Parts: sequence; structure tokens; C-alpha cells
Amino acid sequence: MAFPMNRHAIFTIVLVAISLPLAPAVPCQTQSNLPQLPNPGSTSITRQQQQQIGFQAAAEVYKQMPLLPDSSPETQYVRQLGQRLVAVIPAEYSWPFQFHVVAQKEINAFALPGGEMFVNLGTITAATNEAQLAGVMAHEMAHVYMQHSAKQMQKAQLTQGLAGLAGVLLGNKGGMLGSLGQTGIQVGAGMVMLKYSRSDEAQADEVGTIILYRAGYNPQALADFFKQLQAQGGTGPQFLSDHPNPGNREAAIQKEIQRWPPVTYRTDSAAFTAARQQATSAKVYTADEIAKGAKTGQWSALNKRNGAVLKPPPGLAASATTESKSGAVAWNAVAPSSNFVLADLGLVRMVHPENWVVIAPQQQGQSITIAPRAGVVGSGIGYGVVVNGVSPRGKTASIDQVTDDIVRSLQSGGGDLQPVGAAAEIKVAGVRGRSVNMQSTSPFPNAKGQSQKERDWLVTVPRSDGAVIFLVFVAPESDYGRLSPSFQRMLRSVQF
Ligand SMILES: [Zn+2]
Repeated sequence: MAFPMNRHAIFTIVLVAISLPLAPAVPCQTQSNLPQLPNPGSTSITRQQQQQIGFQAAAEVYKQMPLLPDSSPETQYVRQLGQRLVAVIPAEYSWPFQFHVVAQKEINAFALPGGEMFVNLGTITAATNEAQLAGVMAHEMAHVYMQHSAKQMQKAQLTQGLAGLAGVLLGNKGGMLGSLGQTGIQVGAGMVMLKYSRSDEAQADEVGTIILYRAGYNPQALADFFKQLQAQGGTGPQFLSDHPNPGNREAAIQKEIQRWPPVTYRTDSAAFTAARQQATSAKVYTADEIAKGAKTGQWSALNKRNGAVLKPPPGLAASATTESKSGAVAWNAVAPSSNFVLADLGLVRMVHPENWVVIAPQQQGQSITIAPRAGVVGSGIGYGVVVNGVSPRGKTASIDQVTDDIVRSLQSGGGDLQPVGAAAEIKVAGVRGRSVNMQSTSPFPNAKGQSQKERDWLVTVPRSDGAVIFLVFVAPESDYGRLSPSFQRMLRSVQF
């Protein structure tokens, strides 16, 4: 029996809130006055999740739009230019950017969370020099760098009763893409739409300007390209509506660069001229043609024929790109990364393996789950950690009484959950709590396809306000030993 994630706890439920850290995007200056990229801040959507969501959306783009193969001169050139821009981003904040060229006539470019970037052929031909193309790409790159889509998702999570993300992660109803709309990304009818606010736009200009400058391009080119699009009208409306002018785009860029040391900018290159020439003679399709072809599966077939294939970026586990099935789970699909990241769950702060995801509750009072995606099946988990809290009302109950009540409440949800041995004392965040080993049946069969036992380790910790926080660490008995050090590390990191 799966350890249920969505079981209501007894008693009054402690309010669950996911914190929303807002990072200022103020670029710091070094003494040499060379502009530095700002700290991109953090969101509750992990890097791994952002890459998963971006990759799923990119896979959809490959079904619904005509792409050039990676070997095409246009893609080779865009990739080279992209890498030059990526090179100025500090490694700790960078993403595995991958560059793709769409055989579309209209001017557009978009980047998905995690770093998949798409540039239309029409954008290459519309740019009057390399700096302008670099400007569009740096702006897109800045959206990824600042994690604007992830921050949107986090907001959607908060405003939509926290249902959106859980749906995305669990592949519920309609799967991941069915929920992408809630994340601000829409892929469909041969079009990709990203929702950015004006402040996101101002930030993308600001960060894009630093990227351009550091890569040797005049940031003015960014403003020029937008201006050119506005003047032309017609062919770039999607791009302009995806990227609304924050107001004084040009003036803001001018103001930003005036303090920086003057440099000789690179403007053009023979490679740009050649790629632009290629792009001019390449076969392109209009948005209408693309929308029609998307319905008939034309592009999916064409891409296959042309060898335009999407490859997962390095670091994105194959398991992350496939739905988990209720068969045996391969260890490498759930194995915790040795890199741990801090998550603020509202109730507690704690670290978790970077490749495990935080699944927010769908309703207040339900548990927060931290788990490898492949460790989640239906509404239960077979690998991971469940966190929740209870507020004993009225009488001052002892931690032993509350722990007993929590065990009974967990058992009342069905299944065969049983404590193994008595509760023991344990210290968490300097507070005396209780530790109870329990056993049930894992939702995942073993490698031979047979049902297997699951270990459920319950830890309860009283908070000074009378609430009791509890965590349940879950894994099949056969894998528990391998996961135990990670569970211990997570528990040791707990802070109220
Ligand atoms: Zn933008």
C-alpha cells in the first residue's frame, strides 16, 4: 500500500504556506566597474523541475513546428552565437542552454525554463547585424537566468490552491502539458506563448544588457531590434505581445550602460552574414501554415525526415522525461543526488536531494511531499518524505500522546501500516521528539515483480507554539539502507 500523501491529519491543521522569496535584481558593481549579473534569486520550483517542464514543452514544439536539424548552418551559427553569450554567465547560475531554429517566417524567439531556446528563421533575416540577433537571444536568455517562468509557476501555485504544480508533477489529468497553461507556457496550434509581466521584461532587458556588454556587443542593439519590430508591425506581433515593452526600453538601457567602461563593441561577423544569407534562401512557413500542419502531424513527420530531433540536455535524467509506471523502479531513477538544496516548506526548512521534487499540497492541511518523480505513483509515494503538522487543540497533550494519535490517524487511512517496536526519543533541531519505525506494503513491486515491504519512519517534533511537526521517510525495505544516509541528512537539516 502506498504511503498516502493526501491524508488529512487529525486535529486542527497547521497552516501550510510555501514561502515566496523575492530576489532583488540589482546588479552589483565590482571595483573595476565591470557590470556583474545579479543574483537570480530562488523559487520553490527546483532546477530539475524547471528542466523537466522546459524539456516537455520543447518536445511538444518538435511535434508542432518545423525545426531545422542541428547540423544545418543556421542552427550551427545560432548555437555558436548562443554559446558566446552563455560564456559570460557565472557557472553557478547557468543552465544547459540548447539552441534550436524554427523554419518560421514571422519574427519570434522564445526560451523555455531550463534553457531550451528557439529562434525563428524570420528573426535571423530581420536582424540587420549580429548584435541585434545577439540582443534578442540575450533577452531570452535573461528570462531563463532570472527563472521568470518558474516564478510565474510559483505564483500560479499560490493563487490556484496549490493544485497546479502537483498536477504538473504527477502527470494528472492531461499530463504535464495539460497543466503547462497554468505555468504561463502554452504550446499549441503551432504557437508557443509565454506570459511575462512588464517587470519581468524590464528585468530581462537589464540582465540581457549585461550579458550583451560582457560578450562584447553594444546593448543598444537590443533596443534597436525591438524598435525595428514596432516600426514594422505585421510580422512580429507574437514576439511583441510575449515581450511587452516595459515602458522606456531604450532609455533604461542607455541609463544602465552609461556607467560602464567604454569598450569597442563587435557589431558584425562574416558568420552572421553567411547565416543570414542561408536563412534568406531557406524554406520558411507562415504561422498559419504551421498551425494547420500541427493538426495533421505534418511537422512531426517532417522533423523526423530531416533529422531534427530533440535530445535531452545533459543532467536531465532519462527517468525525468518519462512517466513513472507502477512497475519495479530502477534504483538510478530514485537515487538521491549527492547535491542537496534548501527548501522552505513553510512548516519547516530543510534540505533535500537536488534531483527530488517538492510537491505542494493540493488543499490546505494535506502533506507536502519531497520525492523523486519516479517514486510517486497515483496519490501515494514509494520513495520520499512526507511532511505535515498538527495542532492538538484544547488540552496540553504530551509528545507521546500526539505521536500515538498521529500513528492511529495514518493507520485509519487504510492499508496495513503497523508500528514496529516502541517509540524512541530523537533530537531534531535541538528539540526532543519521537521516532517510530513502521512497516507497510510498497506500491512498487521488487525487480521480480513481487510485492515487497515498505519502511515508513515517522519522526514527530513539538514546536514551541504547541504544534507538532511530523515527517515520514518512505522507501521499500530493500532500498531503505541505501536511502537512510540521505534521510538522516534531511532530518538533521530541519529548522523551524
Ligand atoms: Zn521578454
